[in-house]
Amino acid sequence: MKSLWSDADAESFVTRYASQGISRDVALRVYTTRLLGGDPRLVLHGGGNTSCKTTLTDLLGEAVEVLCVKGSGWDMGDIEPAGLPAVRLAPLLKLRRLERLSDEDMVDFQRGNLMTSSSPNPSVEALLHAFLPHTFIDHTHSTAVLALTDQPNGEAICREVYGARMGYVPYIMPGFALAKKAAEIYEQDPSVEGLILFKHGIFTFAETARQAYDRMIEMVTLAEQRLEKGRKPLVAAAGLPKVAASVAEVAPILRGLLALDRGDGAYRRWVMDFRTGPAIRAYVDGAELGRYSQAGVVTPDHTIRTKNWPVVLPAPEAGRLDEWAKAAQAAVDTFVNRYDAYFARNNQRLGGIKTELDPMPRVALVPGLGLFGIGASAKDAAIAADLAVNTVECVADAEAIGRFEPVGEADLFDLEYWSLEQAKLGKGGEKPLARQVVVVTGGGSGIGAATARAFAAEGAEVAVLDLSAEAAQATAKGCGGRAMGLGCDVTDAGAVRAAVDAVVARFGGVDIVVSNAGAAWQGTVGEVGDDTLRRSFELNFFAHQSVAQNAVRVFKAQGTGGVLLFNASKQAVNPGKNFGPYGLPKASTLFLMKQYALDHGQDGIRSNAVNADRIRSGLLTDDMIKSRSSARGLSEKDYMGGNLLGREVTAADVADAFVWLAKAGKVTACTVTVDGGNIEASLR
Ligand code: ZN
Repeated sequence: MKSLWSDADAESFVTRYASQGISRDVALRVYTTRLLGGDPRLVLHGGGNTSCKTTLTDLLGEAVEVLCVKGSGWDMGDIEPAGLPAVRLAPLLKLRRLERLSDEDMVDFQRGNLMTSSSPNPSVEALLHAFLPHTFIDHTHSTAVLALTDQPNGEAICREVYGARMGYVPYIMPGFALAKKAAEIYEQDPSVEGLILFKHGIFTFAETARQAYDRMIEMVTLAEQRLEKGRKPLVAAAGLPKVAASVAEVAPILRGLLALDRGDGAYRRWVMDFRTGPAIRAYVDGAELGRYSQAGVVTPDHTIRTKNWPVVLPAPEAGRLDEWAKAAQAAVDTFVNRYDAYFARNNQRLGGIKTELDPMPRVALVPGLGLFGIGASAKDAAIAADLAVNTVECVADAEAIGRFEPVGEADLFDLEYWSLEQAKLGKGGEKPLARQVVVVTGGGSGIGAATARAFAAEGAEVAVLDLSAEAAQATAKGCGGRAMGLGCDVTDAGAVRAAVDAVVARFGGVDIVVSNAGAAWQGTVGEVGDDTLRRSFELNFFAHQSVAQNAVRVFKAQGTGGVLLFNASKQAVNPGKNFGPYGLPKASTLFLMKQYALDHGQDGIRSNAVNADRIRSGLLTDDMIKSRSSARGLSEKDYMGGNLLGREVTAADVADAFVWLAKAGKVTACTVTVDGGNIEASLR
């Protein structure tokens, strides 16, 4: 591992923050914290923290010694000075006199000594930073160091690598007891450059930001060098299928069997995030996967994101997915039973005071394929997948030089059910369409873009398809979260299948499809060329069929129903002069909507349409609005508001109708008209 320290970069941080009244110490603390936080081999999703001790002046002009320590909720990779709340150091140091201190009292005491009352909570490891005397302290959960310490003889290996340069701290859960123990071990030999926290991570410290950081890099490099010696590779399992089923086939089945049926067509679904590659394959295809994958997490704070062990699924063979689905269901059931038993056993040890968290797995390993992160949102699924990928690297390294052996079950339980860790997961209810994946075609502009944004606002994971990849990506960016944008010509059946499969690989499945892409062709019906009519049918009918068929394929594999939504048109029920080439396929699409409702109602699939008119969009351009309104002798405003209500209808109004239909669990074969009122086009 290379030091990324640069004098020029360091000075630019100092200069930049000086203008905000931030001291040199804190500016450099921000700089090296970001260097550490930017490397997933050191820090992942909240694992790790840093501090510096400095002097601030309070409101009365008095100098106060403070500990600026990473606050919870901040990522080290993009931390700002506000992410390093300042706590008065003297009161923290007095705490060392206590015999014991509850976590709640510790958090409260730290908050009470913040220099700024609105600061985030200081890290749960803040006291460890306080009790050590050094100006700069760096803490990471380095993958390489964990591979050395997560061994039956981890202490001997670490002593061989670091000798007297480091202090060695046995595993204790973070908090007051660990802080006291770490300080005691440091004081036994104040010449040490850092501490190894067995089965947890590493601290380095120094009087300057650069030296503390460089020591971290040096110690991690020593661990990496040790891992290069005498490696034995993972042995592949025998009997894996010659041809594995694809992720696009496997993911919806898995997603379906993880979903909880809440009755009446509602499900508690999960979002998934697939990862694979040579290292992941070597791990999941390993003969001893059943042992090393079930031993526990590489560092205890992963447990709140990944649970203590993943579910190991059978290897899926191409063409034999029914068998696989049964075996996968059995594996998930076994996982849940094991989790329930683990909870009951450990809760009894604590006197029955805890409430069981949901028992579903957060990581699934699939030999022959790769791994899935599982979460309530795409973000959570990605975090679980990131940690699983990190686990693959760490465990493979540990197994290469010995045998992976992390902390035991009781310690993991204490951490998983520790109130301070649970607080990291955040609270609050979910949005109405959370845990659902929506695909919007023609989502690059107009109604499609408005619809994608409306679904994102309701909590759905969004995939935007558009002929223009850039337009799709621009809409996706505006949706926030992990929304994806894909270029896709929906008149190409192969491209539609590939796009839907890409969405499945990204999110695990699909729950709602808004088949919106369309374009208006014109021509007098007695004279229009066949080619015009056929082109319009390709986009305004066959593309809808192709999108819907691919959606149904995924819906049925999931077995959790699904929603098809079509953008129909006023033309489908009320022909406009010379708009036959547009209206004819749109009328067929309206019929298509009803046919899906009829044929797939038994699969729990609902099929509905929105019938919109006179919306500013790609179909109705500003030029068209201008020429039509002047042809009728109307102002643009009067033309656009030329409906029973006299109000212009917007793309956002149409989007709201799609969202409503997606939520309306008892509505199918329905067309919702959004046009401000047009009696000729009204349905019944
Ligand atoms: Zn830690």
